[in-house]
Amino acid sequence: MKARVFSGIQPTGSPHIGNYLGALKNWAKIQYDYESIYCIVDLHAVTVYQDPKELLRKTEELAGMLLAIGIDPAHSSLVVQSSIPAHAELAWLLTCVTPIGWLERMTQYKMKAATQETIGDGILQYPVLMAADILLYNAAIVPVGDDQSQHLELARDIAQRFNSLYGNGQDIFVMPATHLPTVGARIMGLDEPDKKMSKSATGSGHAVSLLDDPPVIRKKILRATTDSNPAVDFENLGAGVENLLTIYQAFTDTPADKLREYFSGMRYGDLKKQVAEAVVAAIEPLQARYRQIMDETGYVARVLQEGAERITPIANQTVETVKRAMGIYTLR
Ligand code: ATP
Ligand code: MG
Repeated sequence: MKARVFSGIQPTGSPHIGNYLGALKNWAKIQYDYESIYCIVDLHAVTVYQDPKELLRKTEELAGMLLAIGIDPAHSSLVVQSSIPAHAELAWLLTCVTPIGWLERMTQYKMKAATQETIGDGILQYPVLMAADILLYNAAIVPVGDDQSQHLELARDIAQRFNSLYGNGQDIFVMPATHLPTVGARIMGLDEPDKKMSKSATGSGHAVSLLDDPPVIRKKILRATTDSNPAVDFENLGAGVENLLTIYQAFTDTPADKLREYFSGMRYGDLKKQVAEAVVAAIEPLQARYRQIMDETGYVARVLQEGAERITPIANQTVETVKRAMGIYTLR
């Protein structure tokens, strides 16, 4: 039996090149090496307020985009988190073995909490739900961007704690390994290269969406923040320039030595033009596939239905095992 891979993305905002290079590209690349489950995590999205109509629309569009980037529904299960109730059920059971201190230490929690007047309990619990998503399928590999490394560590801590409390000498949960891309694990905002590119950030020049028209992509990249140097100097790379080089390298799979040779001494204006063309060339075919997929009435809904039907029994089995281990009554 092949090991399992699991990963998720929130239906918030519009998926961007950071999501693609940090996670989605790897999802498509490694899917055939594993039994693969890819999840649109809408229960995570509602940890901050989402307009209900928009959330539904974004969920379907994101499913279409995941198919467009190459997730093969004949092989991989593409699902919406909320359609498998076991995610929420396991999350509760794991909440009960998770010390609050572990959650309060999470960088993303601290950042989100700092910007909000009232902090929803869901924001604190977010990483427990994420641990449940992964442990529910005993996933061995989790391909994510670097910002999720800390949450993955926590998922392992929770799994370990559960195993030692309830495993009776056996491991109930497999330890999930973090799988980062070699280049592009943390793409930075084009406008603020000291902050990671995020769907939920608001600045119009912050992120290149996978659905941006080519003229918009060019405009955003040409306006990207650089620094006061005139040209690329690899001995003294500012964060903005380094980010542009990373974007180019990840989209074109250029080896590091070739990248250096090609871009050393290039003026920033020319660097930006090169990066913009590389991004447009990579994204245009995805957009064409996306439009085809969304034009086929009922296709996305069918894929999501089949995915959920395929993996629900695995999820339910895990919850049953966990309940039995904890001494929670199950109907016979
Ligand atoms: P939000 O702002 O709503 O949290 P997000 O852009 O962080 O949106 P998520 O849905 O939280 O996107 O994450 C989906 C996947 O994309 C995760 O694996 C995450 O690690 C990865 N990812 C997110 N942002 C980046 C980035 N800037 N660079 C590389 N990978 C990223
Ligand atoms: Mg995020």
